[in-house]
Amino acid sequence: MEKATRQQTKDHNSRLVLKTIFNGGEVSRADVARLTGLTRPTVSTIVADLLENNLVVETGQGPSAGGKRPTLLTINGQGRHLIAIDLSGAEFRAARMNLMGDIETRDVRPAAGLRGEDALGVVYELIESILSEPSLLLGISVATPGLVNPTNGIVLRAVNLGWVNLPLRDLLEARFNRPVYIANDSHMAALAEYTYGGGLDSNNLIAIRVSRGIGAGIIIDGLPFYGDGFGAGEIGHVVVDTAGELCVCGNRGCLETTSSVRAILRRLQTIDRTQSVLAGIHSPTWPQFVEAALAHDPVATDIAVNAGHYLGVAAANLVGAFDIQTIVLAGRIAELGDILLDAMRAEMQQRVLPSMAEATTLRFSSLGPRRMADLIPLGCSALLLNQELGIL
Ligand SMILES: [Zn+2]
Repeated sequence: MEKATRQQTKDHNSRLVLKTIFNGGEVSRADVARLTGLTRPTVSTIVADLLENNLVVETGQGPSAGGKRPTLLTINGQGRHLIAIDLSGAEFRAARMNLMGDIETRDVRPAAGLRGEDALGVVYELIESILSEPSLLLGISVATPGLVNPTNGIVLRAVNLGWVNLPLRDLLEARFNRPVYIANDSHMAALAEYTYGGGLDSNNLIAIRVSRGIGAGIIIDGLPFYGDGFGAGEIGHVVVDTAGELCVCGNRGCLETTSSVRAILRRLQTIDRTQSVLAGIHSPTWPQFVEAALAHDPVATDIAVNAGHYLGVAAANLVGAFDIQTIVLAGRIAELGDILLDAMRAEMQQRVLPSMAEATTLRFSSLGPRRMADLIPLGCSALLLNQELGIL
């Protein structure tokens, strides 16, 4: 056997063992051998290696199966950490996470209006601010809006950040000397929901994320589907209302002009609010709007239903194109609850074959509000753990 091949086999087996321990929670060497089909001596050698590298720890002894009580193994959550960077919002967010996806520390920088080199400078600053013990750093994973080629880490175009063909991965790898992964924010959100969300009947999923902008991430057979030009799921700039408002992209009536958080707040500014609890407020904020909608304020409800109606159009098109039966809605729009989901469902049902509409589940992220707020860092973590350690 060639040396390279032997090394690959060893890596493959090592990843398999690590993944089995990760998924098992607490398992013995014998369990690992049984679950992987590897021999006991092979498992013992690999486990010794993983223990020495601090990726795995011995936690105690399990029940005896007749003879000596077996030693149990588990992932050493603190054995490595990783840095997740989320550039999708009005603030750039950074989180340092352990191997279990728990956030150890965070940092935030205002990013409104930041572009080009300035935006890049803030990304460097954020990473430096939460970097600790570089020897334990498994890698850095960045979620950015726009078109990204995840295989070479080049941001092809991120309009709001003023980035065109930016080799972000290479820049960060050169600076921090660790593996770096770059992907689109919506793709990361979908990966997080797929990996950590649970409750799935198949290996396919579409996650529509509605915050400042709108994007969908598509998972097919357990893997993110990027599309030929890496723009799969860029539904925010698909026109849903040809008579609608002018969009930053130059078209009229894109989904982002009807249903994004930004669009909803803009609409609140221009609409007649005399019949609303928001009448006396000069510029209602998102939380004020949500509170009014949840209290069945007529004006706020109308706006929420209108946003849901156009999201339903987009969801119907996705169902028609992919026949993926789980559509998850994430982002700040989820705060609107059933008003929004009901409006989306009603619209979707009118636009796809009845049998397909019936088979489709449209729901909010199953991660719960707290973890959903960290959907993007969790996606960053899932991508990095998968690529670097073969787990998840
Ligand atoms: Zn547009």
